[in-house]
Amino acid sequence: MKYYQEKGREIPIIETDVFIAGAGTAGCIAAIAAARAGARVVLAEKMPVPGGTYTNGGIGTSSFFSAPKDDRQTVRIVDGIPYELALRLEKEGGATGFIHTPKDDHRGGYRFVGDHEVYKAVISEMLMEAGVTVYLQTMFCGVVMDGSRIQAALVENKDGRQAIFAKQYIDASGDGDIAKFAGAEQIENWQNYDQVCGGPTGLVFGMAGVDFDRLIAENEGAVRVSYQKPAADGTPTLKLSFCHLRDPERYKALADLDINFFTGIQSIHPGEATYINNSKGVKVDASKAEDLSMAEMKLRVKILRMAQAFKACVPGFEHAYLSWAATQIGIRASKITVCDKTITQEEISNAARFEDEIGLYAFHDLAPKKPELFAKDPGFYGFPYRMLLAKGCDNLLMAGRCVTEEIQAHMSTRNTVGCMVMGQGAGVAAALCAQADCGTRQLAYPKLKKALLEQNVILEV
Ligand SMILES: Cc1cc2nc3c(=O)[nH]c(=O)nc-3n(C[C@H](O)[C@H](O)[C@H](O)COP(=O)(O)OP(=O)(O)OC[C@H]3O[C@@H](n4cnc5c(N)ncnc54)[C@H](O)[C@@H]3O)c2cc1C
Repeated sequence: MKYYQEKGREIPIIETDVFIAGAGTAGCIAAIAAARAGARVVLAEKMPVPGGTYTNGGIGTSSFFSAPKDDRQTVRIVDGIPYELALRLEKEGGATGFIHTPKDDHRGGYRFVGDHEVYKAVISEMLMEAGVTVYLQTMFCGVVMDGSRIQAALVENKDGRQAIFAKQYIDASGDGDIAKFAGAEQIENWQNYDQVCGGPTGLVFGMAGVDFDRLIAENEGAVRVSYQKPAADGTPTLKLSFCHLRDPERYKALADLDINFFTGIQSIHPGEATYINNSKGVKVDASKAEDLSMAEMKLRVKILRMAQAFKACVPGFEHAYLSWAATQIGIRASKITVCDKTITQEEISNAARFEDEIGLYAFHDLAPKKPELFAKDPGFYGFPYRMLLAKGCDNLLMAGRCVTEEIQAHMSTRNTVGCMVMGQGAGVAAALCAQADCGTRQLAYPKLKKALLEQNVILEV
């Protein structure tokens, strides 16, 4: 690569306590948590809408806030801002509510599916209520370093280039962009992701005009309707179904597209296969501009072919059409930033607890195939504060899918509610560090614990 020496120039300075790159699943929760803990917060997001993989990635996630207690019961292990958000989504008619799924493959719990469109409004409202300064359509693109401290974050938007001088920084960009520009150590975790699930990328889309009665009646043995629930007000409009079209002989047009071992369909609106999870995406390093662009284009073509194949071979889809697709591809894995502590699969399986926890978690995406990967009794494990601390950097906290080095363990921590738990922990910690004017490693845990409890984070059940 050749280099061009840019001329130095004066750019405006914006001062704040906490700067966050990425208003995604983790970043929005981090921003709200930091602002509620008393910090001035600037949140920069490259897309026009906050919410990240949940909204622009359109996953309409099915996720879990609970852990199995015994064969019959579950216990909720996540409260705080993530749970508040779930309740607000449900209140606005944008979620299935908590559907008790004792026989779920993911070992019990309450499955919860949110509507990505309603999420866009609810998360925007929560950010505004908290007083976060949000810059949308704003790219974080560099740092100014002062030894092992970040002095400023560089962003670009319609106002041009600006330097955000903050006391603390949270990297919630998914790919670890702040950490990369700050020179922190990163490892790639995308190459082998197709061995544990569909691959490092995916593009979620929906089809309307589906005849669900026929889908269920005429695909016996292939379509498994797992859960149904009327909406909170009793109307039968909101329901969740899960279909796995596993039979390659019967669904040849789909099988020929190499779309992976299953296609998960979740329906939360009548006649609509709301979320079709195209789980086998394109194998690329999505943190690189050219690879990301190629994956975006290849997956647009792939979902069109998938929609055509659904129409061609799945009874019930004859009159259906591609009604929407996520604004951007979803990324499961790209780069992991090395932190002071990384959670291992062994620790998850052993239900490990830590002296510096910022929250609890249980869900594991590999568990339907490998139940032994679940946390043993009591069914959950802890997230230590140290898992958020980017090695070698004094004022940088990581939150979201950008942490956890082992792929199997990442298949647990990277899930939506896990990212949100990290977000709240990082937000509260960053606010406290900014107030005390100290580095992330100088923060006394009892102080952090008290502030987390004040924000209703569950640390003991
Ligand atoms: C196809 C797919 C299906 C999934 N299904 C489920 C599921 O059913 N259940 C579940 O629990 N989990 C699921 N997941 C996993 C989960 O959704 C993600 O791991 C999680 O949302 C990641 O959260 P995050 O905050 O780390 O990243 P994101 O939510 O992606 O947020 C990162 C944000 O940073 C922004 N950004 C990136 N770089 C910059 C920059 N330089 N400047 C400014 N902004 C930037 C992005 O635009 C984005 O908004 C799925 C993931 C995928 C891809």
